[in-house]
Amino acid sequence: MLSDRTFQRYQRQIALPEIGEVGQSRLNRCSVLIIGCGGLGSAAGMYLAAAGVGKLVISDDDIVETSNLQRQIIYRESDINTNKVDAMANQMQSINGQLNVRKLNRRLNEEQLNLEVMIADAVLDCSDNLPTRHLINRICHRQAKPLISGSAIGWRGQFAVFNFVQSTTGCYRCLVPEEGFESSLKCSDSGIIGPVVGTIGNYQALATLQMLALDDVGFKSNQLHLFDGKSLKWQTLTIRSDTECSVCAQHKKAS
Ligand SMILES: [Zn+2]
Repeated sequence: MLSDRTFQRYQRQIALPEIGEVGQSRLNRCSVLIIGCGGLGSAAGMYLAAAGVGKLVISDDDIVETSNLQRQIIYRESDINTNKVDAMANQMQSINGQLNVRKLNRRLNEEQLNLEVMIADAVLDCSDNLPTRHLINRICHRQAKPLISGSAIGWRGQFAVFNFVQSTTGCYRCLVPEEGFESSLKCSDSGIIGPVVGTIGNYQALATLQMLALDDVGFKSNQLHLFDGKSLKWQTLTIRSDTECSVCAQHKKAS
């Protein structure tokens, strides 16, 4: 049962029949892990904080730089040279004082990530490099945790939800091979337009809220959504499971 204060705060979202008081109570009890506090994490984090997700765990080892402000909209000029996790936690708590935020001011190694994924209800990959993306994918798959993945570069963004509870689903490794890519290429090396990264971050928040609050989500997992910020068009592709995938193929054979 929600308190009057909580009901009042979230009444417009509780008024949605798919959410109601039951869905809001679920959100209030959930914990979401956000890996990466850049443009994607900024957008997703603000919406998840505002929506009343009870606990957010945020991880990043960067500090806020002047060049971040063009797209990482959770930060302010006064945050420059401070830790991103500190600045982001402050902003999220100023949006929602009921929010419980835990800050991880570091890049997580496999052991740490394993523990954090274990206690999360959903994981948002908002990171900026392929080794981290593959590690998150491997661990979420192993633990059958929902992975909401987003990325953006230039004028383009992509978004996918991997619901590993369904063993038939492919994984990030099926989509992007670990080998043969320039893994050191980071966002800082390329141009990027702010609203594209915000759009993808908002999609990540939207999918997360559905997965946490609804009995039945209104979208399909196992699909890659591509956004072109110039033509403003979306394209949806089905992610084909790679039968040789080193992450999910063995699992499928065993099941
Ligand atoms: Zn796979």
